[in-house]
Amino acid sequence: VPGPFRFEFRCLLSLDLDLRNLQAKHGSLFAQLDARADELVRRAVDWSNLSSGSTNLPGLASARSAIAETIRGDLGVDVADLALKTSSVVSSKGEEIVREHGPALVARMRPDAPVQIALTGHFDTVYPADTAFKECVLRADGTLHGPGIADMKGGISVMIAALAALEKSDVKEQVGWTILLSPDEEVGSPVSAAHLHELGTRCHVGMTYEPALPDGAMAGPRKGSGNWAVIFRGKSAHVGRAAHEGRNAVIGAARFAVAMTQACAERPSIICNVGAIDGGGPVNVVPDLAIVRINARVDTAADQAFVEATLTRHAETIAKDAELSVTQFGGFTRPPKPETPGLKRYLDAVVEAGEIVGAPTSWRATGGVCEGNNLSAAGCPTVDSLGVRGGLIHSPEEFAIPESFAERARLSLLMMLAFATNTIDARALRAEHARGQG
Ligand SMILES: [Zn+2]
Repeated sequence: VPGPFRFEFRCLLSLDLDLRNLQAKHGSLFAQLDARADELVRRAVDWSNLSSGSTNLPGLASARSAIAETIRGDLGVDVADLALKTSSVVSSKGEEIVREHGPALVARMRPDAPVQIALTGHFDTVYPADTAFKECVLRADGTLHGPGIADMKGGISVMIAALAALEKSDVKEQVGWTILLSPDEEVGSPVSAAHLHELGTRCHVGMTYEPALPDGAMAGPRKGSGNWAVIFRGKSAHVGRAAHEGRNAVIGAARFAVAMTQACAERPSIICNVGAIDGGGPVNVVPDLAIVRINARVDTAADQAFVEATLTRHAETIAKDAELSVTQFGGFTRPPKPETPGLKRYLDAVVEAGEIVGAPTSWRATGGVCEGNNLSAAGCPTVDSLGVRGGLIHSPEEFAIPESFAERARLSLLMMLAFATNTIDARALRAEHARGQG
């Protein structure tokens, strides 16, 4: 066996042994978690019944206060509202519409401990206030069917339960933690992104509670994602009387859409999708407004920079050539989350821990994005599918598997104990991750 391989192999063997010892030593904490299995499910069902779509401010407020009460009760910690700025979206008329998000929720324990963990999640869902999908029920097949039950009210319940168990342990003094729960994740974290970044810069490891797949599989590396609305404005004119005086914004938008698509196609690692072009009206009028809506996904910071530069260059060149004005809204709110050696080591350790606590898991790359992208880009290696097992999220068929609540809480607890005891060196993980990002 070649040297480096043997070394890796021995490290894994000894990690396995150390984690087993850790679990045995704190066996009563794991048993207490299992005894709370029903409660973990029940409270998530209650939260699922509080409809909290990203634009439903009263619903978000109810969900936030219910979760805050549980955190206070379970963890004996102060919970604070964190005021968030507004964000804006562009209407089909090219107007900027200001959007309120309401506050995020923050709780912090032992901020001066040598190891700091960032725990993040969101209490918004994709289901608007007027949805018919409002209630969480137990189906005949034993699964829970409810809005946000997997994504991610179940995950929040798991996070709090694992922390509550950690707080009963005799090793907690070595580790501090911050919970940040946001109301704007399902719309891309436009305003939480800055707070996630700040948290990621000062924590050693991130734990985020997006659902795992039904078989326990987690997302590892993720692509980065950005959204844009690019507004072209021209000059309206009647086609019969003065077509030559008009400046056609729809044509400018169409040229831009094609140019962006072709430019990005030269780099196969980039996905660039023109999702919509708004604008135009009666065919006897030269249209003076068109909005191109684009989503782009990238693997690397270099690809991100390429998309940003290409978008600006084509928008400006085409606007100038067609005598239009152009305004860009949006950008990357999710930087790429590459597979660094630090992230890989962390993910492998979670798989190892899962085997030990009876929470089988695995990981693979995905094009989907979440808060883990933001923590990772701030230098904080993050495993972001630590929530319950479930599926069909973002659809009226969303479900979660009730047995997975206590199971996944055991997994998080073992990881937290490992960080607290330096069984897994969180500071080294961060350093390794940051180096891997270059
Ligand atoms: Zn989610």
